[in-house]
Amino acid sequence: MIPVAKALEQLFSLVTPMEAEEIGLAHAGGRVLLDDIVAGHDQPPFAASAMDGYAVREEDAIVGNTLALVGHIAAGHPGEDALAPGQAARILTGAPLPAGADRVIMQEDVTVAGDSVTLNLVGPGRHVRARGCDFGQGARLAAPRRLKAAEVALAAAMNHARLRVARRPDVAILSTGDELVVPGTVLGPGQIVASNGYGIRAMLQAEGVDARLLPIAADTVESHKAALALADDADLLVTIGGASVGDHDLVARVAEEEGFDLAFHRIAIRPGKPVMAGRRGRQVMVGLPGNPVSAMVCATVFLVPLLRAMQGLPAQAMPREVMPLAAPLPANGPREHYLRAEITPGGVIPFAAQDSSLLSVLSRADALIVQPPGHAGADPGDAVEVIRLDG
Ligand code: AMP
Ligand code: MG
Repeated sequence: MIPVAKALEQLFSLVTPMEAEEIGLAHAGGRVLLDDIVAGHDQPPFAASAMDGYAVREEDAIVGNTLALVGHIAAGHPGEDALAPGQAARILTGAPLPAGADRVIMQEDVTVAGDSVTLNLVGPGRHVRARGCDFGQGARLAAPRRLKAAEVALAAAMNHARLRVARRPDVAILSTGDELVVPGTVLGPGQIVASNGYGIRAMLQAEGVDARLLPIAADTVESHKAALALADDADLLVTIGGASVGDHDLVARVAEEEGFDLAFHRIAIRPGKPVMAGRRGRQVMVGLPGNPVSAMVCATVFLVPLLRAMQGLPAQAMPREVMPLAAPLPANGPREHYLRAEITPGGVIPFAAQDSSLLSVLSRADALIVQPPGHAGADPGDAVEVIRLDG
């Protein structure tokens, strides 16, 4: 058994980063940006009106002043003439301020009569968006990062139509076990619905990866080998179950026979333990335990950071937060314990039922409390580290 941190370190050392590819902005959400994006212009590129109103010079912005109305400036239709003293121009939101103008008087604050405008109110706000107030030429959106919606919009505003991102890894997920049947099947005696593959696929989708689910392998060497052959071009193979040392646990043996070098086979983690990882050429293999909560927890702790590193993000463990306990935490044994827990206004509360088969409990959990090996336990109010589970 190796410690979790050691296992993660070894896992990261197996990674060959995905190559870069160029994609259009329309497909950039959730992808990992590999090159900094640099703004080629100031944004906005010109001083723009923030209101519908009248552009005036600062020295004319006096309550009671009547100005000559010249011009009509709309977004996309800049006026050609500079604003002379004593003049005002009709201006609409987003339109460039004419040369000479310093501020916009809101249309609610003027009286228009024919070709003249009288200013009834001059507020403190100038209602002008200065050139470059959003970002200046040369501003950067730094890589690597997973692009959020707002960052895709920012990249577009910086005038980049195509972006260099990491290729999405091809991930294949293999469930193993004679007892497993696909969801929707009428269950026969002793049968169990294969749930883990779907949960892990959904988790990876949130990481920008569409994993494929291989057909379920029966507990025979031939079946495992046949399934593995379907994934020999995958960047990452994830197996579920068959990872312990029972007679029917064939994953490690078959993986080695098929040319994988296993880096480790057991980790001091709870739930989990029989987690393995290896490499064959540039292909990485991670073997997860079969128990549903073990599989999901180990995927959170190991697979998600692995996939991030494969896509060029920093090789880091899942981020942790410190929170107070709102209920006692029992003492821990020799393995790092990831307790399913609920975040409440008063603090974090571990669920009483922590069995690794309880998906109903995991589905209600907001967080995993990370309890170090040999930890003596803790009381309400004591601080603990947690990994937030979102989505
Ligand atoms: P194993 O590691 O193969 O001994 O599996 C441990 C437990 O997890 C057994 O009760 C299996 O039935 C169950 N299990 C294994 N794979 C899956 C899966 N893909 N979905 C749901 N349960 C599973
Ligand atoms: Mg099994």
